[in-house]
Amino acid sequence: MKVGIITHVNCPCGHRGSIVESIYDDGHSHWYRATLEGLSHSGHYDGTDRLFADNTPACAACGLSLTPEHVDSSEFKTRQNRRHAETVT
Ligand SMILES: [Zn+2]
Repeated sequence: MKVGIITHVNCPCGHRGSIVESIYDDGHSHWYRATLEGLSHSGHYDGTDRLFADNTPACAACGLSLTPEHVDSSEFKTRQNRRHAETVT
């Protein structure tokens, strides 16, 4: 089963990018990959959010480092629910 999760991130400058996570698990093999769309890897983040710590996203337009605070607020709840689901399993 392959699952794709998109986390939209809004930069204060108006640029919008996203972090796309792909998770594949068929019972035999398991892989995880995250790619940045409209963002660069040149940001700085040393907080506790694995997604941001692993990818250090920065705005491709202005170069600002993006953190979980910049995640589209309408999707924040979905993100929290996913975390909860992962914790249960
Ligand atoms: Zn920006």
